[in-house]
Amino acid sequence: MNTLTFIKDGLKWSRITNNLWGAMVKRKNYIFIEVTPLNGKYKVKYRNIEIKRYEKQEINLMRQLYNVVQADYTLAFVLGQHYDHYEWIEECNDLKELADLIEKRVTFDFCFLGDVDASGVPDINKNIFRKIFKPKLYEKSEIYNFPDGTDGVIVYWVDKDGKEHGPRTCSDCDESMWTGHVINDGDEHCCVDCIHKRYTSKQLEEMYEDDTQYYTEWDESELMEDFQLVHEK
Ligand SMILES: [Zn+2]
Repeated sequence: MNTLTFIKDGLKWSRITNNLWGAMVKRKNYIFIEVTPLNGKYKVKYRNIEIKRYEKQEINLMRQLYNVVQADYTLAFVLGQHYDHYEWIEECNDLKELADLIEKRVTFDFCFLGDVDASGVPDINKNIFRKIFKPKLYEKSEIYNFPDGTDGVIVYWVDKDGKEHGPRTCSDCDESMWTGHVINDGDEHCCVDCIHKRYTSKQLEEMYEDDTQYYTEWDESELMEDFQLVHEK
């Protein structure tokens, strides 16, 4: 179990406990990433556990000791922990190094690390931490021909899976939006197309008078609260 393994794309990670994430590679094969904060430093342990590589008596012992009934991922995890099998372990001096390591060695969405226990980390680092662990959005631009014959450039932002993100999302059609309607102080947001399916112009006017809906525009600074923006070169 000492070969270096890289995580393949397309794995679905989930958080198992605080600072521990796991993903299924295939049936009876799980990978785990454990991040342990140590006085401002971080220890990262990567395990790739294939249940079939263990002896029957080893598995039975785990079932007894840890009361693992069925779930394969729990069994895989306790096997890895109990026998301390892992592919690699690294120590990072700070959150920046931790982020670099994870970006280089595993395909692992940073936002999952958002809840790494950062207690005992000075506030200044906590801010860096928040900045580092924001998921990235990539700028895309396209030439657009307006009906009047002139050209313009449309800029939009996509995540690593190509999904488009805007400062707000329409509550009805789920489209990302840069302009739209705010309903009840932000309880809901609605694109221009959808709002007219919900309400008549007269209703919208009344809601505007009552301060329960208004039309507005958002800009990139709103996206930056939740994402790191990577500009097109
Ligand atoms: Zn909509």
